[in-house]
Amino acid sequence: MTSPSLYWLRNDLRLADNAALTAAAAQGPIIFLYVLDDETPGEWRLGGASRWWLHKSLAALGTRVPLTLRQGAADIVIAEVLAETGATSVHFARDHAPWSPALERRVKDVAERAGASCHRYGGMLLHEPEAIRNGSGEPYRVYTPFSKACFAAGEPKPLRPVPSFTAWNGPAASDRLEDWGLLPAKPDWAADFPQYWTPGEAGAAARLEAFIDDGLAHYADARDRPDRNVTSRLSPHLRFGEVSPAQCWHAVRAAQLAAGGKLDRASEKFLKEVLWREFSYHLLHHWPSLPSKPFRPEFEAFPWSGNPHGLHAWQKGLTGYPIVDAGLRELWATGIMHNRVRMIAASFLIKDLLIHWTEGERWFWDTLVDADIASNAASWQWVAGCGADAAPYFRIFNPVLQGVKFDPQGAYVRKWVPELARLPDALIHQPWAAPALVLATAGVELGRNYPHPVVDHGTARDKALAAFQEIKGAA
Ligand code: FAD
Repeated sequence: MTSPSLYWLRNDLRLADNAALTAAAAQGPIIFLYVLDDETPGEWRLGGASRWWLHKSLAALGTRVPLTLRQGAADIVIAEVLAETGATSVHFARDHAPWSPALERRVKDVAERAGASCHRYGGMLLHEPEAIRNGSGEPYRVYTPFSKACFAAGEPKPLRPVPSFTAWNGPAASDRLEDWGLLPAKPDWAADFPQYWTPGEAGAAARLEAFIDDGLAHYADARDRPDRNVTSRLSPHLRFGEVSPAQCWHAVRAAQLAAGGKLDRASEKFLKEVLWREFSYHLLHHWPSLPSKPFRPEFEAFPWSGNPHGLHAWQKGLTGYPIVDAGLRELWATGIMHNRVRMIAASFLIKDLLIHWTEGERWFWDTLVDADIASNAASWQWVAGCGADAAPYFRIFNPVLQGVKFDPQGAYVRKWVPELARLPDALIHQPWAAPALVLATAGVELGRNYPHPVVDHGTARDKALAAFQEIKGAA
């Protein structure tokens, strides 16, 4: 009997365009191993919403291939599975989380000790982080030249089809997915998630197709509008590798070509956003402390406030600023928040409430279905002003003006903050400015069914700028 090859599934829960799977298939019958490893990432073990997604994605994949599910430190589990099955090769896709290089070295060691060959492949990114360097051979710190270098590096490789493979039918003990407890216990805060998401490779492909048919044409003009449904919502599918960035790239290029120039602007804009993901990983790879330490060290001395009351109000969507509250409530109900609103909500936490950006990063880590160690950290640092190529700290979003500009009729706020739904468009982003009669007619009682603002934005802004002055001298 041909000995099996072990394919260690990680953030690549798909069969198509999968170099590791293609190589494993060429070696012999495959053991499809997924390890739920809460030990190696330590404080960055998967958050609640990601666990929900993982359960559903593995369930979907499990209808197509037999999965061997194990729990524990991945290198130890792989050593055990190699000993139990006599697999003679290990194949996996490279990952770029800060703990991954050491883990991947340990996996190589255990494979070699078991007499198995070990093979690592790319695919999670369009370009390996070492491949894109500036003229001096250094990693990039600024997005625009980075993205230009990516475009100059050429189109991604052609896609790999699903390989023909044989699944190994020898014995390999597996946990039951249901026993992992990935889904929420009561109360089921994810009860509405299935309305919004279909985790798995088929769901990802359907989402990509729907975006190209309905969203792409409007993407360049309306991607900043949370009241319009034009962005791709591919982020959780990309996060779990149910679709590869190369598949997204080629699909958009094909649509662009077919449209004979009509989609040029939209396509470029979309591909540039995909390159923000790439840039986040580039930064994380070269600066692995990104999730916990400010890229600009002077921010270590920033006088953050503890403010547990403010943090709680923010998390619950009860700050009294409608666009911020709508975002946090959208997040809780769906596991996602529109990008523009993420920026507004993050700015509010950091600059209006003076709460450390890592508190917001951690809340997002737990509640986003697309919680991604690189994009989350890089984006929070970007908003805080302490990241590479970040928005300057003194640029402070005004949540009222942002609401008026990006949700002009208040449709987004009306959807997620229904207690304000009957306010007129002109006042929906600042209910405290409404005359008593207007509030009463709309059924809004500030302090009773919708909060007063937790801070006055103007005063908070001055405080934030003063705090920034304190560290500016240290820069
Ligand atoms: P689209 O607009 O359709 O973009 C296509 C893809 O490009 C996205 O799916 C995503 O993979 C990538 N992308 C787009 N914008 C960005 C960006 N600014 N940074 C990195 N990649 C981007 N994105 C995550 O995937 N995971 C996170 O944990 C995450 N945390 C964030 C935290 C904050 C404070 C902010 C401001 C942004 C964060 N983002 C994160 C980036 C961005 O908000 C999401 O990628 C985007 O909203 C996903 O929606 P979409 O798939 O419809 O995006």
